[in-house]
Amino acid sequence: MARIRDDLRALSGYHSPQVDVTVRLNTNEAPFAPPAEFVSTLAQRLAGVEWNRYPDRAAVSLRTGLAALHGVPVEQVMVANGSNEVLQSILLAFGGAGRRAVVFEPGYQMHAQIARNTATPVEIIERDSEMLIDIRSALASLSAGPPAVVFVTSPNNPTGRCEPRDTVRALVEHAGQHLIVVDEAYVQFAGADLLDLVSDGAPVIVTRTFSKTWGMAGLRLGYAIGATELMSALELVTLPYHVDAAKLIAGELALDFVAEMDARVAETVAERERLRGRLCDLGVDVGPSEANFLLIGTGSRPAVMVWEGLVEHGVLVRDCSGWPGLAGRLRVTVGSPSENDAFVTALEEVLR
Ligand SMILES: *Cc1c(COP(=O)(O)O)cnc(C)c1O
Repeated sequence: MARIRDDLRALSGYHSPQVDVTVRLNTNEAPFAPPAEFVSTLAQRLAGVEWNRYPDRAAVSLRTGLAALHGVPVEQVMVANGSNEVLQSILLAFGGAGRRAVVFEPGYQMHAQIARNTATPVEIIERDSEMLIDIRSALASLSAGPPAVVFVTSPNNPTGRCEPRDTVRALVEHAGQHLIVVDEAYVQFAGADLLDLVSDGAPVIVTRTFSKTWGMAGLRLGYAIGATELMSALELVTLPYHVDAAKLIAGELALDFVAEMDARVAETVAERERLRGRLCDLGVDVGPSEANFLLIGTGSRPAVMVWEGLVEHGVLVRDCSGWPGLAGRLRVTVGSPSENDAFVTALEEVLR
């Protein structure tokens, strides 16, 4: 039998258990579909695709739209199949053997997972007691060792907290030969972003996705914004025509609905605060969040039992209690008002 790479054999994949329940609050998807007019216009436009032809390899039109949205030159934008593919391209171009990926725990587990897939050694730095990046440990790590891809997630998943701007600015200022990646998958739910750290010559790439805010997890579209020379490096490792014709059209069309999507984001943020309030009233330990999810503590109850109890009540959340630094924690996505109420009712019964 063919033998898998030795370094992959020991690893287990990243999976969020998919259980068949009515209320799914485990993967931070949006509770809303995109606007109906988006869906109907998309159907019309897809009817006009020349399916026998390869799509625009450079995705110029979609990239131009994204560049306009963010007020950056088109050369500073790269698109891919979800931001996870962007992250993979970054590691293919800037990681690999003899280099390293620096991740802060607790954090998004895919960063380390994709690093391992690309044979990039992973260096883990623990967060401070506030669950933020400890800048002294981070700078100490950057001052020694091989070239690093440093993953900053802001807001962080699963803690929901934004990294202070000064922390990220300090990382960029001390980056030298290293690359700072700022994963902003949830940034539209937060007060501020870090996009202004990007400029030609700056060793920073910001990544974004249509999966969360845009309610288009099914589309698999993500993008990167960074210095022109960094984007050219990513181009070297992307497969030809990797973004298909349908996705190019859907992504570009979505940009006509920014106002509608902003309104949905505002609703989710309001709903997040309402849910937080209800959990606080129940006496549940719930931290602040600038994303579309909340991290809760299960107190004296084992988190796994609370998770199972919720599943029995038809509610699926993410059990983070096995992740480093997150004992006793569950992550719940902010859903629709009725989904959130179902979650609170179920939690109340499970904790009773
Ligand atoms: C959900 C998520 C992503 C999104 O990945 P896609 O491939 O765009 O769906 C990226 N980063 C973080 C931190 C996430 O939580």
